Amino acid sequence: ATPQGLLGLIGSGIGQSLTPALHQQEAGHHGLRLHYQLIDLDRFGGSAADLPWLLSAVRAIGFGGLNITYPCKQAVIPHLDELSDEAREMGAVNTVVIRDGRLIGHNTDGSGWARGFRRALPQADLGAVALLGAGGAGAAIAHAVLRLGADELRIVDADPARAAALAAELGPRARAAADAAQALAGATGLIHATPTGMAKLPGLPLDAGLLHAGQWVSEVVYFPLDTALLREARARGCAVSDGGGMAVGQALGAFELFTGLTADADRVEHHFRQL
Ligand code: NAD
Repeated sequence: ATPQGLLGLIGSGIGQSLTPALHQQEAGHHGLRLHYQLIDLDRFGGSAADLPWLLSAVRAIGFGGLNITYPCKQAVIPHLDELSDEAREMGAVNTVVIRDGRLIGHNTDGSGWARGFRRALPQADLGAVALLGAGGAGAAIAHAVLRLGADELRIVDADPARAAALAAELGPRARAAADAAQALAGATGLIHATPTGMAKLPGLPLDAGLLHAGQWVSEVVYFPLDTALLREARARGCAVSDGGGMAVGQALGAFELFTGLTADADRVEHHFRQL
């Protein structure tokens, strides 16, 4: 397939997204000229209801692909011609490849998290994993960590029904835990997938006293990269990986789907950390 030179991101509140820079720079290293356009729903008071005409427009203009983010990851599905197994399993799409006018939905969030996690914490013990947050990011990561071979996944969410529903969908290796204390007791590691710790929502998502040396902590928050949770975890002797790994990992996966090329993970990671 001939790589197309025009890509975009559809979502809300994406003005600060680093994704265009990551794709454009990596494309440049492969001798490709690529324009990556932010299609910010907030610019025109748009919503997921605008997807039909937006998708017709990008198809007509000749986009080669799109990333999809909040609030469109589920809403986009009925408008696509095909879904990858991963996107179908998760019920969410973050990447759409456009080939011969056909829209093919993929999801690189879970596999992107796994790429970042493996790089940062290659020795991590997946014996008993606690997952805090069963929203969009948490669900994608839950599928991915089981695919990586986790023996047991204990899911906690402030909304217990959400944790229970995700556990039921995932099968026998997953279960909902009553609270963070129960999930972390004897756990080998923690994945944090709530928004707590973001610049606009500072603080700790759990009592840091529950963490101890020997456990690993994987953070999804990446604005900022260094969160209170990561600082507390490091201070307690935990091995940690920050939210940049997933942000880079999902972009690497999308770049490869869009272009058919293999991205240089070290180069993209290095570039991300300079932005
Ligand atoms: P979401 O709103 O879909 O889900 C968040 C979930 O966390 C909700 O179910 C909520 O009930 C739960 N929750 C909130 N506070 C909690 C607490 N203290 N204890 C237990 N549960 C709690 O959000 P999302 O889309 O999954 O995003 C979560 C975070 O992940 C955001 O900060 C987002 O920026 C980040 N994220 C990072 C990447 C990346 O590439 N690093 C990718 C996607 C999302």
